[in-house]
Amino acid sequence: MKVALVGNQNSGKTTLFNYLTGMNAKIGNWPGVTIEKKTGVIKGTKHEITDLPGIYSLSPYSIEEDISRKFIFEEKPDVIINIVDATSLERSLYLTTQLMELDSKVIIALNMADLLEKKGIKIDEKKLEEKLGTKVFKISALKETGIDEIVKEIDNKEDFERTHIYDSNIENALSRISCDLSGMHKRFISIKLLELDSRFSSKNIKNFENIRNELEKNYDTDLEEVIATERYSFIEKTKAECVKEKENIVTFSDKLDKILLNKWIAFPIFVVVMFLVYYLSVGVVGSGTVDWVGEHMDSFGEWVGTSLESAGTSEWVNSLVVDGIIAGVGAVLGFIPQLIILFLCISLLETTGYMSRIALLFDKLFRKLGMSGKSLIPFIVGSGCSVPGIMGTRIIENQDEREMTSILVPFIPCSAKLPIISLFAGYFFGENSGIASASLYFFAIIVIIVSAFILSRTKFKHVSSSYISELPEYKVPSIKYVAKDVFDKVIAFIKRAGSVIMICSIVIWFLLSFSFKMEYGVDIEESMLASIGKSISWVFYPMLGQNNWGATVSAIQGLVAKEQVVSSMAVIAGLAEDVEEGTQIFAEGTPFAGITMASAYAFMVFNLFSAPCFGAIGAMQRELGSTKRMLKAVLFQTTCAWILATLVYQIGSRIENGTFNIANVLIIGAILITVISICISKFKKKKDGCASCPYCDSCK
Ligand code: GDP
Ligand code: MG
Repeated sequence: MKVALVGNQNSGKTTLFNYLTGMNAKIGNWPGVTIEKKTGVIKGTKHEITDLPGIYSLSPYSIEEDISRKFIFEEKPDVIINIVDATSLERSLYLTTQLMELDSKVIIALNMADLLEKKGIKIDEKKLEEKLGTKVFKISALKETGIDEIVKEIDNKEDFERTHIYDSNIENALSRISCDLSGMHKRFISIKLLELDSRFSSKNIKNFENIRNELEKNYDTDLEEVIATERYSFIEKTKAECVKEKENIVTFSDKLDKILLNKWIAFPIFVVVMFLVYYLSVGVVGSGTVDWVGEHMDSFGEWVGTSLESAGTSEWVNSLVVDGIIAGVGAVLGFIPQLIILFLCISLLETTGYMSRIALLFDKLFRKLGMSGKSLIPFIVGSGCSVPGIMGTRIIENQDEREMTSILVPFIPCSAKLPIISLFAGYFFGENSGIASASLYFFAIIVIIVSAFILSRTKFKHVSSSYISELPEYKVPSIKYVAKDVFDKVIAFIKRAGSVIMICSIVIWFLLSFSFKMEYGVDIEESMLASIGKSISWVFYPMLGQNNWGATVSAIQGLVAKEQVVSSMAVIAGLAEDVEEGTQIFAEGTPFAGITMASAYAFMVFNLFSAPCFGAIGAMQRELGSTKRMLKAVLFQTTCAWILATLVYQIGSRIENGTFNIANVLIIGAILITVISICISKFKKKKDGCASCPYCDSCK
């Protein structure tokens, strides 16, 4: 049998799914964790069960709601388990009233039963069963109680007589309409037809207009509203009869929210939390462990080198293994300890429920930028990896808002950019490396705000999506799930190091060790890579203050994977002749010599904001829906990156050598802002013209 798990976001669907199937799908305490459906088999049975993304109604407003609705209609599950958060029954029952209109068997799982007592709530499930006309079970997916009864009920063929909740006028109309329908879910479709849902056609219904007009005469407002009001009044009555709540119970979440969402201190707390997250991972853990792993990698490389030599391998094979593979892969493996801390922090933010508070906190501000608080979640997830960040934009209902967010998510430094930041900050900013790297995050936030401000006023003009209206309870994170989440992400990182990074390192080694005449062991300046780099290094001149082919090819490598920037620098520097210590990337004699603090910061800025890696570009293409739009987005990102990096270097280098002139900067800044605003206003006018008048130039 086919079973579907349907319910609101955060009601515990995935927790139940994992328990039933023994699988390990990701669980979170914020919306948008399950954005694709997942299927498994219920242990000990042959039933196939599907975990669907959380929805609030069967009228799809967002992509994930559409996925769930389509599944119900197209895959036709035999049984729907409607998982309901028992602690907020009223909110959950709207979806339940819609599910009751379907022909499928519906079982209601009142989840989070373990929290009911604490919250002073009593639910009479027998009465609820009578009211709804479906089987109701109290369960706790987390504490794994009451679930066996549900599994047994799946096989039970008898179903209750469904309750009809509308008044007699509407019920009459519904029976007249469903007479002319065929197939499943007649009642549901009849209601949708009355609501004028354009996804269903009333072509075959006799006298449809008459039926609707007759009905409308009975009410003052339109039918959609009448139907919704009847649903709500049914929910209210049901709640009054079946639920008893103790008044004025202040939960732990309420108390904590008083502090964490306090008007004055909420924002400072957020800044401190985020600062701690990055300071801990990049500053504290980062600086020590990278060197430690680096040293061990060096000794490992040496040991492999000597062993290979004694085995009689040729020099070039030796170099391929030691300078190519071990140096390249080793350079990124050193960052694993700090990534563990970063992933751990993000996972804790997600599972405790603080992430949802952050979204709410930023809702108002983001609205001004043409996004909503929901957009913030993809950004924070994006600081782990842009790919799930971009995919997470699906929780945003409004299409413009969604597209804009997916273009801006790669601007937030992802974990693969962390090695670049860490390497440069550690080497050039020494003791201040923590501050330098944290400053980049704030720089990224400013760039995102400014870009969003500009994009929402030019390319993506729209009405913001709905407000965030409810928050999940705070929860003590489950160590098992957090550990699993961190473990999965670290393994994915190591796999990349072992595959993509290794192949790229080999290619880089090859291009570095051979000249175009295929001679091995030429001077590095005559290698293929140097020639390629030199021919395009002018592009990077304005941000580096020199023609640096090493930095040029490393930055381009970043397209494959951002970690590769550091990896490829390690291979290039390691093969440069004059370097004694293979890992001293910036030492004299390496192709990276001459990089100053200003050009280092500018180079970081470029790598931070330029086109993301291919993985993220692919995700962007999927979410934007076309290659052309994806290319436009990549062009936008790379242009932004180039301009910002150049500005950083031009100002930074002047500060560095003491010729900084604030007057110059102010004047140039003012001119730039004027030019940009003129461009924006021109662009805006053209768009407005097209929308309002059919005879303007561009329309002819
Ligand atoms: P989904 O969005 O419906 O898939 O919900 P998840 O399965 O991701 O769970 C959301 C949050 O609720 C997680 O933090 C779970 O640990 C928590 N949760 C799920 N079921 C229960 C339960 O029965 N009791 C309690 N106290 N928490 C639960
Ligand atoms: Mg889920």
